[in-house]
Order: sequence, then structure tokens, then C-alpha cells
Amino acid sequence: MNCRRCLNGVIGLVKVALKRDPASPSCIAARRKICRSCEHAVCCQSDSRLFCYCRICGCLLSYKTRIASEQCPKGKWNDEDHSHNASPK
Ligand code: SF4
Repeated sequence: MNCRRCLNGVIGLVKVALKRDPASPSCIAARRKICRSCEHAVCCQSDSRLFCYCRICGCLLSYKTRIASEQCPKGKWNDEDHSHNASPK
């Protein structure tokens, strides 16, 4: 994993921790469903509760899928079908 990937991962962790740029629940669920069946996902194809990451970008999928502005590096997410950001509370 190169430095750029590590930096992206750290930025993603910080965004999730600070609840910045949250994706909507329906968007998160749809993304995770796609990742679970993706050949580039490591570990989570058999059990979605496992700690898993994307082999292409190196991101942890449980965090990556929760950030609205994140994108699948292979263009597999179909985010147009979901409201992108979580509605403000
Ligand atoms: S982010 Fe994209 S390429 Fe990576 S595991 Fe998910 S669907 Fe596959």
C-alpha cells in the first residue's frame, strides 16, 4: 500500500469520526451490497461483519461507504439511485 492510499485512508477515518460528509443510509446499504459481491473486496464476500477493504484503493469499506463524496475506483457504485448525503437532523 503506498503513501497516497494511506493518506486517503486516514482522511476517510477522520471524516467518519467527525461525521463529515455522511452518506444517506440507503446509499450506504446499496454500496455495501455491491462491495460484498465485488471481486476486489477482500474478506467480506462471505461475511459482511468481517473487517474488509478494497484491493484497488486500499480503503476500509465500512468507512469508505459512509462518506458521501467517496467513489468506487471501478465505477461500480450506482449512487444516482440514492440521495447522496444524509439529510440534516
Ligand atoms: S469500492 Fe468498488 S472496486 Fe472496491 S470493493 Fe467496492 S465495488 Fe469493488
